[in-house]
Amino acid sequence: MAEAMNEVEMVKCECCGLTEECTVAYIARVRERNEGRWICGLCAEAVKDEIMRSERRIGTEEAINRHMNFCKEFRALKPPQHPTEELIAAVKQLMLRSLDTPKSSPVRRQGLGVRRSVEKYK
Ligand SMILES: [Zn+2]
Repeated sequence: MAEAMNEVEMVKCECCGLTEECTVAYIARVRERNEGRWICGLCAEAVKDEIMRSERRIGTEEAINRHMNFCKEFRALKPPQHPTEELIAAVKQLMLRSLDTPKSSPVRRQGLGVRRSVEKYK
């Protein structure tokens, strides 16, 4: 079974629709952490950001829902030619803005190394 866990699968982010190649083990870990949903590294950071920025305590579930709504609204607002790329740019903008807050963004601290994470879990 260990071999199967190292197999690489295409997986689609449920927020922004980005597809990535990840190991089965990594996909399972992400799902576990995010209420059964697979979200890409960038969206995962945005969700963390959502929790940090919230004035009251919110759980992962609610933060994911908020971020999903952000993605949905963005897509509804303007149907661009490259929706995923533009959405990713918008999410990055969102997080860069939160760098102005005293708490530093996790993006700066950890980077968005999905590939690196995959390496780690091999
Ligand atoms: Zn995403």
